[in-house]
Amino acid sequence: SICVGVLALQGAFLEHIHILQRIPQVSRAVPVRNIEQLDSIDALIIPGGESTAIALVAERSGLIEPLREFVRSKPTWGTCAGMILLANKANKTKKGGQSLIGGLDITVNRNEFGSQINSFESAIQIKHITTSSSDLFPAVFIRAPIISSINSPDVAVLARLQCNNVETDVSAIVAVKQGHLLATAFHPELTNDDRLHRFFVKVALDFLNEQKNEL
Ligand code: GLN
Repeated sequence: SICVGVLALQGAFLEHIHILQRIPQVSRAVPVRNIEQLDSIDALIIPGGESTAIALVAERSGLIEPLREFVRSKPTWGTCAGMILLANKANKTKKGGQSLIGGLDITVNRNEFGSQINSFESAIQIKHITTSSSDLFPAVFIRAPIISSINSPDVAVLARLQCNNVETDVSAIVAVKQGHLLATAFHPELTNDDRLHRFFVKVALDFLNEQKNEL
């Protein structure tokens, strides 16, 4: 089993912890606010919230560099603002830009759905998670970003959103996996569906076991 941390500087971290607590392979689910806590976990979730606020607090508490180092070698999943922080490039940022943790070879557009649709729910297909149109995943989008480009062949697209009510893309990418890194534009922790959390824990366990075997 593994200990999973949830970055708890701002945003929807408690909801992630509650879902993780019902997964048998998770020995502990803990909030992460400092380097000691970051050092004590096997895998990390970066939650939704405001990516600018999370980045500011992380910078002030000296966590940005340790987070970058963690993400290079340990399983990490970013949801919504967390996905923005894991991207190597973000568009529509604040004046002067904003700090990112990086690690994922993707470009994201923040607040892609603008003010006309601040939040909505859509049942979507997700690779590895759903098998047919009868078990779609309830994806909750809240001032959500989308993935506007994939910048490496190592990035696998797991889900797209058919946006027939949005002017932007016809099928925006909303979930990706790159090795030990996972990102979703939506908020699985705000639903009762724990399939993505279980998937992340499995990806993390497989990755950490493989690393152990290589030693
Ligand atoms: N709009 C937020 C940002 O840009 C993300 C919203 C969310 O995490 N629900 O950081």
